[in-house]
Amino acid sequence: MENVIIIGGGPAGYTAGIYTARANLKPLIIEGAEYGGQLMTTSVIENYPGFPEGIQGPDLMANMRKQAERFGAKLISENVTKVDFSKKPLKVFVGDKAYEGKTVIIATGAAHRHMGFPDEKKWNNKGISYCATCDGYFYQNKEVAVAGGGDSAMEEALSLTKYAKKVTVIHRRDCLRASKYMQQRAFDNPKIEFLWDSIVEGVEGKDKFEGLKIKNVKTEKTSVFKCDGLFVAIGLDPQTSMFDGQLKMVNKYIFTEPDLTKTSVEGVFACGDVMDWVFRQATTSVGNGCRAAIEVERYIQSKEPGKKDKTKVC
Ligand code: NAP
Repeated sequence: MENVIIIGGGPAGYTAGIYTARANLKPLIIEGAEYGGQLMTTSVIENYPGFPEGIQGPDLMANMRKQAERFGAKLISENVTKVDFSKKPLKVFVGDKAYEGKTVIIATGAAHRHMGFPDEKKWNNKGISYCATCDGYFYQNKEVAVAGGGDSAMEEALSLTKYAKKVTVIHRRDCLRASKYMQQRAFDNPKIEFLWDSIVEGVEGKDKFEGLKIKNVKTEKTSVFKCDGLFVAIGLDPQTSMFDGQLKMVNKYIFTEPDLTKTSVEGVFACGDVMDWVFRQATTSVGNGCRAAIEVERYIQSKEPGKKDKTKVC
């Protein structure tokens, strides 16, 4: 029986691993067949504290992983296929193999939705980005586009106006899903323009990003929209399908108690992008992973029979 099984090998999972390992809980991290999460597809990260010159996303993740291992976290590089939280011990399956735990920390993260046109992947970090906070800085005085019509798209567009000279929101309808407040801020910003009823069908350019191939969904007309980069903000999918019916969810995100990481099932905790649809930064995931680890440590202590509580809480 494991003290704690951590599902997910991103910033939240490794941080939970580092902290629970240092608390002598010998965590088992089932990190997925491909470890690292969203930062593995990011280039240089310049806003992660402690690296004044910036650090490559994959290097940061390799370091976090190494740090968890150094303190004794056991790593399994496979995908969890199902869980059973209906009774204790909690069970986590990798294929036919079941791992049993006193506690589970879910840190499976979220994945950016992709536009889905054929060579989208090829342009990743070469003109297409999924994070203005991470990559907006590289577009000083450039003209950029944002795809999407929700709060994320408005937020990305607003954030990009700090760097770019013009930001065009390309949306497939003629009205926005974003909240009134976010819409108003976008409409009030002189750097932001809107291209309605339009979808991005591809990138213009062979080796260099020169713009976007656009189709107007009402007229079916295609055209080229010249710009220096595209930020895709059409939503994130929290990686929660395997927890369907096992835990309380809110909009597909795992519900956690206010200001805590504990979920609707005793002994199960969640941290990082799988429960946080507001901040969604590596730094906030790291903070959340630490919180989950501390909650797990306290939970396990509270369940240990015969252990006298010597603390003096006032
Ligand atoms: P969202 O609300 O689901 O919006 C996604 C947008 O992308 C929609 O406008 C959708 O178009 C469009 N879209 C989806 N698939 C597309 C495709 N294949 N091609 C082109 N367009 C596509 O997602 P979100 O903006 O990431 O927000 C998710 C949640 O987080 C929301 O509850 C939101 O309020 C919250 N959030 C809040 C804040 C904030 O308050 N500051 C910031 C970010 C997110 P349609 O409208 O036509 O479906």
